[in-house]
Amino acid sequence: MSDKIAVYPGSYDPLTNGHIDIIERGLKIFDRITVAALKNPSKTYLLSLDERLEIIRETFAQNNRIEVDYFEGLLVDYLNKRKITTVVRGLRAISDFDIEFQMALINRSIAPQIETIFFVPSVAYSFLSSKLVKEIYLLGGEIKQMVPDIVDKKLKQKFKQESLSISQI
Ligand code: ADP
Repeated sequence: MSDKIAVYPGSYDPLTNGHIDIIERGLKIFDRITVAALKNPSKTYLLSLDERLEIIRETFAQNNRIEVDYFEGLLVDYLNKRKITTVVRGLRAISDFDIEFQMALINRSIAPQIETIFFVPSVAYSFLSSKLVKEIYLLGGEIKQMVPDIVDKKLKQKFKQESLSISQI
């Protein structure tokens, strides 16, 4: 039987322990997961695509069941190109439901073969988002409990080089 593969798409700006929690749960069901970072030229990111990808690659360097990639444009086009039909997404506290439900149905209407599978994170990460991490960081708070070490390091490097303001997130 062939491997069960899913794509977990997201901005990953930056990768958080919430994303990692979802990936680990996904690996209980799927043989392999492709973590695909979105490249959207009209969106402002704190981290460049290369930085976002490097963080994900380093975090999962020891796990050969995780592949790291990026996509631009429609997710369904990327899925078709890769011949993958399953999407993994995470559902936090109620706030995610509306938009995730809408996206899953839109993707299905464009490409009926696509199924979206939702995983619920540990309670500890149910209110964690990349946006929150960036806000806390830029206000001088501690984010160590929320992200892998490399994110903390990368953001510190970034702060040394550039003076960022909260309006940039
Ligand atoms: P964010 O919404 O934090 O900016 P992404 O756009 O990268 O993150 O989200 C990609 C997917 O991961 C979405 O399905 C989102 O709901 C899910 N996700 C993000 N953070 C968490 C978390 N803490 N727990 C569960 N799912 C999450």
